[in-house]
Amino acid sequence: MAKSKNIKKEKSFRKIKRNNSWISILFFTLAIGLLVVLSLAFVEFLFSYAVDTKASGEYESIKYMARLYNSNADIEEAEKYKLLNEEGREYFIIDKNGEEIYSFGRNTCSDTGKTVFLGISDENVIAYKDTEIGYVYPTNNNALYLDYKSFIKKEFKMDEDGVFIGTREEGDKTIDYDRINNLETLDDMEYVSEINDIVSNKLPVWLSVDMGDKTLIAKAYIKLSANDLALFMIMGIVMSFLVIILFIIVVSNVISGFVRQRRITNFFFTDHVTKSHNWMWFKVKSEQVLRKTSNAKNKYAMLNLVFVKYRTFCLCHSVEEGEEVLRKVSNHILSRLNKKELCAHTTNSNFALLLKYTDADDLDARIKTLIGELEQIDTEHKFAFQVGINKIDILKDDNGKILRRKKIDIDSEYNNACAARATFEGSEDSGIAYFDNKLVEEQKWIDAVQEKQQQALDNEEFQVYYQPKYDPRTNELRGAEALIRWQSPEYGFVSPGRIIPIFEKNGFITEIDHYMIKHVAKDQKAWLDKGLKCVPVSVNVSRAHFIESDLAEQIRDMIDEEGAPHDLIEIELTESAFFDDKNAMINTIERLKSYGFSVSMDDFGSGYSSLNSLKDMPLDVLKLDAEFFRGDNDNDRGEIVVTEAIKLAKSLNMRTVAEGVEIKEQVDFLAEQGCDMIQGYYFAKPMPKDEYEQRMGN
Ligand code: C2E
Ligand code: CA
Ligand code: CA
Repeated sequence: MAKSKNIKKEKSFRKIKRNNSWISILFFTLAIGLLVVLSLAFVEFLFSYAVDTKASGEYESIKYMARLYNSNADIEEAEKYKLLNEEGREYFIIDKNGEEIYSFGRNTCSDTGKTVFLGISDENVIAYKDTEIGYVYPTNNNALYLDYKSFIKKEFKMDEDGVFIGTREEGDKTIDYDRINNLETLDDMEYVSEINDIVSNKLPVWLSVDMGDKTLIAKAYIKLSANDLALFMIMGIVMSFLVIILFIIVVSNVISGFVRQRRITNFFFTDHVTKSHNWMWFKVKSEQVLRKTSNAKNKYAMLNLVFVKYRTFCLCHSVEEGEEVLRKVSNHILSRLNKKELCAHTTNSNFALLLKYTDADDLDARIKTLIGELEQIDTEHKFAFQVGINKIDILKDDNGKILRRKKIDIDSEYNNACAARATFEGSEDSGIAYFDNKLVEEQKWIDAVQEKQQQALDNEEFQVYYQPKYDPRTNELRGAEALIRWQSPEYGFVSPGRIIPIFEKNGFITEIDHYMIKHVAKDQKAWLDKGLKCVPVSVNVSRAHFIESDLAEQIRDMIDEEGAPHDLIEIELTESAFFDDKNAMINTIERLKSYGFSVSMDDFGSGYSSLNSLKDMPLDVLKLDAEFFRGDNDNDRGEIVVTEAIKLAKSLNMRTVAEGVEIKEQVDFLAEQGCDMIQGYYFAKPMPKDEYEQRMGN
């Protein structure tokens, strides 16, 4: 399903990339060509139609002569000829053998005749070319043809474009061709009619009529008058005008098509917040750029750059102001790009960049500089930017030759950059993170855990481990902390560091907290019933859980359900669990205490506002973070801090637990300072329930 969607998306991208205007240009060019051919054919047709009309008229007259001859069968031959001669037409009559019997006028008929079809008369007629003025003649395709081009060229004076020019004397009249060429007024038209007969050119062709045993062949005249010529010219002008108009329409259509295409493409590729490019554009362009990479010097990296706290900025100011900052950021990045580098605004406060680099350190320095500049892009605020970098692999063959990429999955390359950037999740500071395959493994692990968490809980795959807390002076067991372990059928033994952060993010941690509290209460109850000497066991409660207003009651009810006494349960809160509503927190702590539970502050000293929290929270136990006991053991300053922290706790009426204590010197020192308990590998590691049970006294 997702795949087919992707294919569809790909297809539409390719469509945009392919500019279809060339096809329409080709199509329109063909259309214009066709029109020119059609108009030439039309002019040709006009001429042949005119010739056909005139020839048919003449043919009717010749037929009349034939009828005249036949209808006077009873008079003498010589008399018949006299009658025919009165028609004034040159003709001759031949017998069956082709012998001339009689002729009138000059016989300039050529020998060979061809059958032509006269459309107007609807008859097939044998026609002969005139030997003297042979502009009209029968053609092979069964028609009468007027070779008007030769006729015009020869008979008229023309300029280079074939237009009649100047004047011609004809009898007592002067024919002004310039005036015929530029017909403008009615007077001009009248002038054409006036000289019509004078300018007429009679183009002869011989037509024959069958008269039984004889054949009459007479000279027919295709009379071309000035009117005809003017008509042809007007038709020619109209046709060229039409072609020009069509040409203009077509050209403007193509241009507007181009413009429209560009506009659509621009719209499609424009980010409307920054007015620069968007993700679609970036995808198309980066694919083009990357596909051309053929040089090992020019490596490319894809970046995901995020303006941190954009939403908060919009909340405090306005969305318009937020978008204004995005625009500035976009413009600034664009101003820092080199040739063949790209930047686009993708979503919310995310930008995608494609940068060229030769040296990884240079790239790192360049991005740091860019972040530095962007942080100060606004004089009134200091912003933070996080960048995820995915260096794109160069493909090489076995001989080390660089291969051109055929297909590049831009989505996943960018996603890798985003995944690198996502490692900052939760942080609001600027930074750079690089993508590597560990991240993919990490994400796979997160997905697997999320998928299995509920099932693991239902199947009781989570186990409670107990880490004892000892009195450093007497070495007596004084308490324990319950710590989770996952005994997965698939992954084996999994430590909390690999699952708790995932549960904290996805909220499943509240289920885990319930699970742990219930199991600890159940265990305590069982040990009590066995007659063992139980000590308080502390359980970690996360921030997500602590925010719930009835948390104290939830815990009380869960423990009561199992039947464990409240003084055997302690609730550990880490600094990060402290949230903004101090009064609500104090209220929850007080209620927990009122039900008889102890409440401890975990990891004291690892955060930065521990002292502040201590001031306000009515806590029972202070757990000194393991960090105090790491590294340099002869650190006077460290010892002073621990000593003072213990003193402080005592004066606040709090018990102290030192975590992560591994060596005897530390134990002795802590005993000396009056630390109440030690939870560390020196005494014991976290252990399964049964092992812990062994450590409890009767
Ligand atoms: P934490 O609450 O600070 O737990 C103490 C961690 O320090 C435990 O790690 C423990 O094994 C370790 N530790 C104790 N003594 C020593 C020592 O001497 N040396 C060293 N190197 N480490 C020592 P663990 O069990 O891996 O737990 C890690 C963290 O996971 C815990 O830190 C806690 O924040 C969280 N966690 C564990 N179980 C739970 C749980 O049930 N619920 C919640 N919400 N968080 C839990
Ligand atoms: Ca803890
Ligand atoms: Ca701790």
